[in-house]
Amino acid sequence: MRFELTLLGTNSAVPAYGRFPSAQVLNIQEKRYLIDCGEGAQMRMAEYGVPRSRIRQVFISHLHGDHIFGLAGFLSSQSLLGRQGPMDIFSPPGLEAPIRGLLGCGGGLSFPLRFHLVDTGRHQVIFEDKHTRVYSLPLVHRIPASGFLFREKERLRNMQPEKIKAYNIHYRDIPAIKGGADYRLPDGRLVPNEELTLPPAAPRSYAYCSDTAYSEALVPMIRGVDLLYHESTFCEDMAGHAAATGHSTARQAAAIARMAGARRLILGHYSSRYKNLSPFLEEARAVFPDAELGEDGKVFGVEWEGG
Ligand SMILES: [Zn+2]
Ligand SMILES: [Zn+2]
Repeated sequence: MRFELTLLGTNSAVPAYGRFPSAQVLNIQEKRYLIDCGEGAQMRMAEYGVPRSRIRQVFISHLHGDHIFGLAGFLSSQSLLGRQGPMDIFSPPGLEAPIRGLLGCGGGLSFPLRFHLVDTGRHQVIFEDKHTRVYSLPLVHRIPASGFLFREKERLRNMQPEKIKAYNIHYRDIPAIKGGADYRLPDGRLVPNEELTLPPAAPRSYAYCSDTAYSEALVPMIRGVDLLYHESTFCEDMAGHAAATGHSTARQAAAIARMAGARRLILGHYSSRYKNLSPFLEEARAVFPDAELGEDGKVFGVEWEGG
């Protein structure tokens, strides 16, 4: 029951010092979601062993080139590899025409491509499947931008097999008990649900906040998140420039993580001004000790707890 983030690119603007532009893949229970698709993303997938054909949804935060220039290449390769299943792309308005234009040059695709507009001003559910809900997170940037919160759905409670026997429970009553119902015995006595079941594992969550200026409005939306990727394009020495360009510093990313009660913070989207990343980590850890440097190829997992 994996919940695992693989970073494909952690630099901003241009590739530098072995760091590619923004892209990452989140694996939730073997469903893979691609988050942003900067140039070179598909090369990184090959390098890091990410099964490209398993990706069915792509979430694009905004239309700056360092987040989308790998998308046409990725889709084109999927077509050349004979993909049949549809691909859903969630993004702010304006992406469909240029992507279809580029792909049209290559003669079209072997599979349906479906675009879904994300309202960058609202925090709401934009996608869900069996195990996961994805929410938009309004960001503060120079152009409309949305982060994404991935949260596992609540699971059913775990039936204790020995109780089925002890109370002679019929199998048709089990789904209701797993849903939280008490159980009434033939003699009329009520067995409370807590006696029959154990609580399920807590839903795991991941928030992607890039690109954004410091925004405390994010805090209630990502409260208690297990894993937070918050951009830190600059260190505090460039705080003024960060604010002017719609970006954050490592210290600001850490402040958001602390206020939100995140369990872990991953830094990323570094400016090419910085070759050495250790100042980012020092700055963030002074505010939020569970901060780590995001780097291309790093994998961050969230354990399955309880249940
Ligand atoms: Zn960017
Ligand atoms: Zn940007």
